[in-house]
Amino acid sequence: VTARVDVALVHYPVYNKEGAVVASAITNLDLHDIARAAKTFGVDTFHVVTPVTDQQQLFTEILDHWLHGAGAAYNEKRKEALTLVRLCDSIATLRATVRQKWGEVCVLATTAGERNDPIPYGAVRQRIAAGQPLLILFGTGWGLAEEAAAAADGFLPPIRGKGDYNHLSVRAAVAIILDRLLGEREGTGR
Ligand code: SAM
Repeated sequence: VTARVDVALVHYPVYNKEGAVVASAITNLDLHDIARAAKTFGVDTFHVVTPVTDQQQLFTEILDHWLHGAGAAYNEKRKEALTLVRLCDSIATLRATVRQKWGEVCVLATTAGERNDPIPYGAVRQRIAAGQPLLILFGTGWGLAEEAAAAADGFLPPIRGKGDYNHLSVRAAVAIILDRLLGEREGTGR
């Protein structure tokens, strides 16, 4: 069962350690782990956003290996998850692609930082259950640059732990957020 929910891992525009806007590098780890989380929670498509040509080529090589090459026979479950992954060159193209699929779509950005008026998880969960299409943007590097955030309609609240340490990997953040929005609630069967 799939929901009308897509996730995107944005490699540009993101911040680097110095706060400059850069394109970050695609990692194998992100593709595999986020694809598995997406498949587990019934996400429709996992978009990987990068405008950098050699990064796009790397993406194609990785996917090709696991979908059609030696990797496909080696690990069926990985292949199944990676069939959800698509390449996209910009956030503008991404928005247009998702809109073409579902019509008007709500785009929500994620961050570990505080933002004004984030949309509570419970409310977003209800919107999804009511059939509203949703696209969730995740950052790489040191997080989504302001222009990426500006392309969104709003923010999800930051995930909070117990202390000051607030440095989840994007892979962990995706899994936690998808569980909050799409995972089965204990004892409810839905
Ligand atoms: N190099 C890091 C890695 O290995 O994952 C990339 C860090 S990247 C800035 C982390 C991304 O995960 C953020 O842009 C955001 O999308 C998400 N994220 C991390 N911590 C979060 C939190 N506490 N709440 C919501 N999203 C979070």
